[in-house]
Amino acid sequence: MKALISYENYLWISLIWMGIGIITFFYLFIKTAPYGRHTREGWGPMIDNKLGWFIMEFTVLLVLYSYFTQIGFQLSWPSWIMVALFTLHYLNRSFIFPLRIRTQGKKMPLVIALMAIGFNIMNGSLLGMHFTWFSSYTIAWLYDPRFILGFIIFFTGMAINWIADTRLINLRKPGETDYKIPHGWLFEYISCPNLLGEIIEWLGFAILTWSIPGLVFFVWTFANLVPRAIAHHKWYKEKFADYPQQRKAVFPFLW
Ligand code: NDP
Repeated sequence: MKALISYENYLWISLIWMGIGIITFFYLFIKTAPYGRHTREGWGPMIDNKLGWFIMEFTVLLVLYSYFTQIGFQLSWPSWIMVALFTLHYLNRSFIFPLRIRTQGKKMPLVIALMAIGFNIMNGSLLGMHFTWFSSYTIAWLYDPRFILGFIIFFTGMAINWIADTRLINLRKPGETDYKIPHGWLFEYISCPNLLGEIIEWLGFAILTWSIPGLVFFVWTFANLVPRAIAHHKWYKEKFADYPQQRKAVFPFLW
């Protein structure tokens, strides 16, 4: 099917969106996004935390797959493998993660969920257009060193993200909602291995797709998660007088 926009316009939109991501990176050092431990009053109506995670994150799959309807879901095998990796991540984030977290009674601002939906519509669209109109991966791509390396990095990041999220979730007994100091494994080096894992994961995806939307998605993930990890780290140090001093925020020994 013929693309509804030119490739040149697609590139311009991607570049502008990436530029907004870079500005957001600096902004998030000034204003921390108010969800999770940083939730605060003054952001309008609130919604249930778990419902928020579901509606924000499921959107990206709806948007991505809606593009494929235009071509009767006729994607190449390499494209399907990439889409499957993306889907795996977002099925966890939109269904499994909200069911597992122990945040009974906690809320998040509706505006945060709406902003995340906007973010997901944009990223889902760029990826949808890429796979539907602009990419042409052949089977040979599955043997390309960029695909193999990206694949390994992607799953390394995903494993770190899932293990770290699980350890954090299990710090609470069912019904508890307070915070504890995490110990062991990567937590001895950094406060937020889950956020580091997610950054690594999308770096892998950018490499294995070798694409503009993959790069843009990585830049946005970095822009969202590095300031968030630094805010989490500062929060830990303020809350716990005995917080381990040698620990960094997100990159071991560095930051
Ligand atoms: P957090 O590490 O703040 O929280 C993860 C879960 O563990 C929450 O349920 C949280 O509870 C709980 N938790 C965290 N620390 C503790 C602790 N010390 N003691 C007890 N419970 C704890 O992660 P985020 O909310 O920042 O992100 C959640 C996931 O979403 C991560 O995997 C992250 O990578 C991903 N994400 C991805 C983004 C992207 O742009 N790709 C953007 C944002 C998040 P509570 O909610 O009560 O704080």
